[in-house]
Formats: sequence, C-alpha cells, structure tokens
Amino acid sequence: GPVLGIETSCDETAAAVIRGDGTILSNVISSQHSVHARFGGVVPELASRAHIEKIEEIAARAIDEAGLSWQDLAGVAVTEGPGLAGALIVGLNYAKALAFALNIPIVGVSHLEGHIASAWLKDPSFPRSCVVLVVSGGHTHLYHRGQDGATRLLARTRDDAAGEAFDKGAQMLGLGFPGGPALDKLAQAGNPGKIRFPRSMRKSSLEFSFSGLKTSLLYRLQGMDKAHLDGIRADVAAGYQEAIVSVLVEKAFTAVGRCGVAALAVVGGVSANSRLRALLTERAHREGVLLSIPPLQYCTDNAAMIAAAGRNALSAGRRLADDAEALVTMDPLSPLQVIETV
Ligand code: ATP
Ligand code: MG
Ligand code: FE
Repeated sequence: GPVLGIETSCDETAAAVIRGDGTILSNVISSQHSVHARFGGVVPELASRAHIEKIEEIAARAIDEAGLSWQDLAGVAVTEGPGLAGALIVGLNYAKALAFALNIPIVGVSHLEGHIASAWLKDPSFPRSCVVLVVSGGHTHLYHRGQDGATRLLARTRDDAAGEAFDKGAQMLGLGFPGGPALDKLAQAGNPGKIRFPRSMRKSSLEFSFSGLKTSLLYRLQGMDKAHLDGIRADVAAGYQEAIVSVLVEKAFTAVGRCGVAALAVVGGVSANSRLRALLTERAHREGVLLSIPPLQYCTDNAAMIAAAGRNALSAGRRLADDAEALVTMDPLSPLQVIETV
C-alpha cells in the first residue's frame, strides 16, 4: 500500500506519497529559503522552528494531493539523518507519532539513501548495477553498486562538497543564497572557456577537492573593482562552474570504466545544474553509458526520494527502533546495503 515519506533534515519541510507500485502520488515541499536568505546560510534554530510550524500542514497536503485519507497509508518513512539535529527531530517525532496513531510500520531512511533512490524514480528499469555520484550541499560521494545492492564507497571529497563550492562561489560573486541555482543561471550568459579556474584532476585518484578552486576565485576577485567585475561576472561564473562540473563528469566516467559497469546515476542538489546535465548527457551518449539524472524536482531535497527508499526498506523488513534518535552524522554506507532488496 501507499507509503508517506517525511523529510526535514535541513531547510526543506517535505512530505510525499508513493504508491505500492512505485508511482509518486504527491510531492509537497515547503522551502525555508526566504527564512535563511538574509543570513547567507541555514540558521539551525530557525530551521527547527519553521519545520514545527509547517510539518502537519505539509503532510496533510501530501495525503490530500495523493487523493487518499490517512487510513489508506500502509507505512511511514522518515529521514533519520544526516542533518541538523533540531530539524531532524521534528520530522522523526512527527513520523513516529503518526505511525503509532495509525498503527502502521515506520522505517528510518538515510538522506543519502533517499538521494540515491531518486535515480530510479522516473525510470524503475534503470540498471541496479551502476556507479552513483551523489553531489549535494554536503556530499560529493562516488559509489559502486552491484546487482545485489551491495554498495561500495569509491571516493569522496577531501574538503568541500560540490554544492558548497557552488554556494561559496556564488556568495563571493554577490549572488545570494542558495547560490547554486543563481550561479547556474548567471553562467548561462557567460563563456565557460574565457576565464580558466584550476581543476583538481589527478588522474590516478577518484577523490574530489574543491577548496583550492574556491581560494582561486577569492584571489581573482581581490582588488577587482566593481565595474570591472560587473563586466565579466557571467564569464567568471561560467569558468568557475566549468571547473566544478568538468571534474565531476571526468571522475564519474572514470569510475564507470574502472568498475566495468554500463550505467551512471547522478543525484543530489547539484545534479540540477544545467551545465552538468548537458555534459553528462553528451558524454554518456558518446560512450554508450546509460545515464540517470532525476527530474529537477527530485534533485534537490524532497520527500518523494525518502518515500521511495522507505518503500524498498519496508518491504525488505527494515523497521525504525522505538527508541531511535536523530542521527546528525551517519556512515556514508549506512544503511545502503539493503536499499533494493525488493
Ligand atoms: P545533503 O544532501 O548533502 O545533505 P542538502 O540536503 O542541504 O545537502 P540538496 O538539496 O541535496 O542539499 O542540494 C542543495 C545543494 O545543491 C546546494 O548546495 C545548492 O546550491 C545546490 N544546487 C541546487 N541547484 C543547483 C544548480 N542548478 N546548480 C548548482 N548547484 C545547485
Ligand atoms: Mg536545502
Ligand atoms: Fe540533500
């Protein structure tokens, strides 16, 4: 039967319903971006409070838009971590109370497991055996997944996540918060080849590093007067973005080759980036690799991906312990091994 997914790990209050057959029936998101924008980043206290104010209304809307009533639900899935403690607790407590009141099973899902599950939302027949690149605000992880769901972490970033590089670069360019989408938009008006930024592209390693790039932008902008920057801002954005996405593309396809698989999934907020999507699509076509990038609404934080991962976990028999607490940090492999024992 239908599973309700709840996501409150950061600054999106989200609820979604997935049907037993994997069809998404509703996907409701309330973003707190306007709450945090003037602080230039997510303020944990404000995030918790906004989740508390919104969670009931958002969940009710997810049920309503799915055309269901509460009694139709067969299970609840909730993000257990990683994320902000106070934010996670709101979703976790709400989901626990709901499952208890309805007397239905509940499962805790890792936020990363959710992002990964989003690769199969639109295309359930996408191969199980693949390389997965998770690129988001807090993560840049390359995984290899086997046919049986066994998951290996191949590499991650040594410093900043790709999304962080986007957000910090955008901030330096005066583009506001969250910066990724704004930088993407500005870069579309620029020439990616005009101003070149350093790429951390050591061929032997699949690991990422973006802190040098950030510093390089800082140096470039230092002492530049505003009129000059205004004239080249779009080219700077395009060059900076190119340095991030070209490394992501290169390493992802290197991993595909090394793992001997024929499929690549790219998920997480940064997978919404238009230049990254274009370069991935072109390269996949050229190399005959099957590519899955979620539709835009499933790239950034949402609850459809939590409902999808939860539906798999529930049918694999996984359950949330009664005394489960929010997990601010989580092993990047937990609990991925059983994600697809459907
Ligand atoms: P995590 O999933 O690692 O816990 P998160 O949940 O906070 O992080 P996501 O919603 O998964 O974040 O991704 C948000 C990130 O994606 C932000 O860094 C944002 O700037 C970036 N992002 C969103 N859209 C784009 C875009 N079009 N281009 C580049 N970056 C983008
Ligand atoms: Mg967010
Ligand atoms: Fe996320």
